[in-house]
Amino acid sequence: MMVHHSMASLVGGYTKLSFNERTKKYHGQCPFCHSAAEVFCVDNKNGSFWCYSCGKHGTMEDFRVQMGLECPEPELEPEDADTMEIYEAAAAYYYQCLTGRMDMRAYSYITKERGLDEKTMADFGIGYAPYGRRNQSLYRHLSQRFDDLAIFRSGLVKRGKYGAYDMFRNRIMFPILNRDGRVVAFGGRCLDDKGPKYLNSAESRIFNKHTLLYGFQTAAEASKTEDTLLVCEGYMDLIALQAHGVSNSAAVLGTALTKEHASLIRCFYKRVRLALDSDKPGLQAMARSIPVLENAGLEVDTTSFSPAKDPDEFFQRYGKKALKARAAEGTDPSVTAVRASSEPEAELVRQLVKHLNVCGQEGRAEKAG
Ligand SMILES: [Zn+2]
Repeated sequence: MMVHHSMASLVGGYTKLSFNERTKKYHGQCPFCHSAAEVFCVDNKNGSFWCYSCGKHGTMEDFRVQMGLECPEPELEPEDADTMEIYEAAAAYYYQCLTGRMDMRAYSYITKERGLDEKTMADFGIGYAPYGRRNQSLYRHLSQRFDDLAIFRSGLVKRGKYGAYDMFRNRIMFPILNRDGRVVAFGGRCLDDKGPKYLNSAESRIFNKHTLLYGFQTAAEASKTEDTLLVCEGYMDLIALQAHGVSNSAAVLGTALTKEHASLIRCFYKRVRLALDSDKPGLQAMARSIPVLENAGLEVDTTSFSPAKDPDEFFQRYGKKALKARAAEGTDPSVTAVRASSEPEAELVRQLVKHLNVCGQEGRAEKAG
């Protein structure tokens, strides 16, 4: 699950690089002096860059500074390291519970209903939080290695009237990683009707949903060859996209895109393609995100997975090839802005656009499927 981004993937967001087998280095046009020839050189092995034309050179950090990029990194305290260790132990436990088929219903939900294979479960570390055993399954497991103070501080186990109880019970678990590939939170989807459909870890010093994007480690790698990041919402949508060949994708964790998201993305990509749900909240979140991304210097367009409601459903209905094709299509963002607007005159345009979209997309989906 752990993927670190490299110098080439950072620089690759700004200039197209190609790997030279003979020199074992990456070459491309210089993002600083924009010289036409391939005078810019990146050595991934020692993390350095230099330009034969303008003479700019340095480390990964120098590149960020000279490009005017800020990649905000949270300040960590010593106990945060313990918490991340507990999250990792919990992730391994949840993963064992799912793949060890502790609960057949959870296993068949993932494999049959959602159509995911063992490789995808491993790639995303998908797990299952059991219930029963007085709701202390995880607590008992963690107690073998960690003390109560650290376990309660992690928030994965709560203290109740009748003693300790696991926060996540009878849920499909999605570990959320930070940029270093460490587990810093979980999203849990319930398998029964108890509680909210999705439950996320509370925000903390190590988990801030306004700066993190789900699946970004893979997307950072993909920026070596792609210049557009597709942004969707929801764990299953992101998994459907990345597992079926759209690695240049990431998901927001229930917010619009923030300034912090934008500056993170800008370290790797030049364009964002918004693909949030096409319901009203999704459209409004896209409309709010557009100026934030543009102000950070990113190009923005949008796409919709209609007539399906999201990328996951689109894949189930039309397959991998159609999913990749749709993900590669961008529409002018002003269309989304109009559709999300509540101004009365926008309503007419909205109806028209909706009509055109439905006609156009039905045609395309049939051809692609
Ligand atoms: Zn140069």
